[in-house]
Amino acid sequence: VGSARCVLLDIDGVLTISWRAIPGAPEAVAGLRASGWRLAMVTNTTSTGRARIVERLSEAGIPTEPEEVFTAPRAAAAYLRAHHPGASCLLVSNGTPHDDLEGVELVDPGLEQAVDVVLTGGAGPEVGYELLNRAYHALVGGASLVAMHRNLQWETEAGSQLDMGAFLLGLEQAAQSPATVVGKPSTDLYLSILGALDLDAGETVMVGDDLEADIEGAQAVGMRAVLVRTGKFREEHLRRSAIEPDDVVDSVADLPSLLGYPG
Ligand SMILES: [Mg+2]
Repeated sequence: VGSARCVLLDIDGVLTISWRAIPGAPEAVAGLRASGWRLAMVTNTTSTGRARIVERLSEAGIPTEPEEVFTAPRAAAAYLRAHHPGASCLLVSNGTPHDDLEGVELVDPGLEQAVDVVLTGGAGPEVGYELLNRAYHALVGGASLVAMHRNLQWETEAGSQLDMGAFLLGLEQAAQSPATVVGKPSTDLYLSILGALDLDAGETVMVGDDLEADIEGAQAVGMRAVLVRTGKFREEHLRRSAIEPDDVVDSVADLPSLLGYPG
C-alpha cells in the first residue's frame, strides 16, 4: 500500500445498490475508519443531492459526513462558475442535482430563454424527447455542452438501466458538439478532490465498479485503483478492456484485509 492514507469510495454499486447496503459494506467502512483510514465518497450520482446522500448512506448503516462526499453536480457547479460565469444553463437530468448546483443559473425549460450551456446529468423517466430536442436546438445555436458524466448504464435492484451517456452520444453527433465531462473520470475532478483533501495521488486508493469512470480516471492521476466485482462489474467487460485495475476484489467487504492499516 505504500504511504496511502485515504480511500476514495464510489457509492453506487460499491457501497449500495438502490440505496441498500451491499453485504459487508457497513462493516468494511467501519473497519477502515477504525484502522485509521480517511475516507471520501466520490459519486457521479445525479438523482440525489449531497445532503440526501449523507442521509441515505447513514440509513444504510454507513455514517458519513457531508465534507466526505464529492458529487458530479458539485463538480459541475465549480466548473461552470470557473469557465462559464453567469451562463444560463439548461439542465437535462433526472432527480434533483439543483441542490448541488450552487451559483448556477438554470433556465426554465418551459420558457423561451436563451441557453449558453446545456448541462447533462443522469437519465430517467423525467428526461423526455421535448427536453432532449430543446437541448439539441440550443447546441446547434452555439451553446456549450457540459456533462456530469457519460455513464451508459447503472445498476439497480431491478437490473441494469440505460443512462444519459447513451443520449449524450446522440446529442454530440447530431449537434456536432463534443461534451466536456466534469464528473468521473475527469482528471480535473480527481485532482480537485486531492486538493480538497490536501493529499498526493500516492496517498490515496480509489475503489469502484466502473472501469472507465473509477479505475481509468483514478489511474490517470496516479492513484492505485481497486475494482470490485459488484454493481455494474461484468467479468467479460474486464477481460475485453485495456484498462488494468491494480487489484480486483469480490466486494468492498474485502477492503480491510486488502489494505490493512494505512502506511
Ligand atoms: Mg459505481
